[in-house]
Amino acid sequence: MTPKKHIIPVFVPHLGCPNSCVFCNQRKISGRLSPACGDDVRRAIANYTAVNPKGEAAELAFYGGSFTAVSIHAQKELLEAAAPYLEGGCISSIRVSTRPDAIERTVLDFLSEYGVKTIELGAQSMDDEVLVLSKRGHLSDDTKAAARLIKSMDFSLIMQMMTGLPGDTRDKSLNTARLIAELKPDGVRIYPTVIIKETELFEMWKCGTYSEHTVEAAVSLCADIYTIFEDAHIPVIRLGLNPTDDLSGGDAAGGAYHPAFGELVYSHVLLDKASNLISQLSLRDSIILGVSPSCVSKMTGQKRCNIDLLKERFSLRELKIKITDVPEGTVTIL
Ligand code: SF4
Repeated sequence: MTPKKHIIPVFVPHLGCPNSCVFCNQRKISGRLSPACGDDVRRAIANYTAVNPKGEAAELAFYGGSFTAVSIHAQKELLEAAAPYLEGGCISSIRVSTRPDAIERTVLDFLSEYGVKTIELGAQSMDDEVLVLSKRGHLSDDTKAAARLIKSMDFSLIMQMMTGLPGDTRDKSLNTARLIAELKPDGVRIYPTVIIKETELFEMWKCGTYSEHTVEAAVSLCADIYTIFEDAHIPVIRLGLNPTDDLSGGDAAGGAYHPAFGELVYSHVLLDKASNLISQLSLRDSIILGVSPSCVSKMTGQKRCNIDLLKERFSLRELKIKITDVPEGTVTIL
């Protein structure tokens, strides 16, 4: 198994972003009220070093906002604050997240000079109608061009997509996943739409021009999207917004917010895999499913829901789950 990479997150909320996506309230998502500065970078690295006596180098990640849409002065301040730590080996690399229309060759040359190795691109949807209705300010062709340029210049590319945006449908989201997979990113993050207070989407929802993307619908859809990426050997590195006190405390007013959203999706993916396997068997009344140790609770489901559902679906008298020697995420019949 690849050792987990340590990440030092620094949030750059909304600073300088020229857009107003209907779903966005970066301050509430990131939990930060003010934009980051050089001192924040130094403080974040110092905090990480203090709790990491072994001295393992970590990746510094500028999350939130649109890094390359920020003024060049602000980008320099943040990257120059990181430079001594990169040279000294305290951080191993830098990643930034940004939007497709804020990527061009000169921007990438600049990031490369400062040691940025990974770029996270907010595609959100590959459907132009959805992008327009969500006021993203770019189209799917911008995303394709940016992704290709990033890859051609040897950066690692992580792409972010959303489900349940205005004008979105299940088929459009599945198609977005397929089109993103064709761009061969090194990883993806999937965020179902959450209705956050003080956003345009919140107002649209209140006046009935937007219907919420429920947790239930999002889990089922994201399980199918996960399978598209799994089949394309593209790691899904995040499912759902990171829970924060503000979001859990009421700022997530509706939509697909669940503190354990990823677990729900993985559980659904395993349910689908088990269901597929059982449907190919001849009739029997007792089945033992084998999974890796880390997948037992996901296969079981919350409150044993997967076991109950499979028993009912296939008229089983007994269904057991046992640990067996299979790769993580695989289900087998014992
Ligand atoms: S581009 Fe990103 S930071 Fe800017 S408004 Fe949209 S989601 Fe928010």
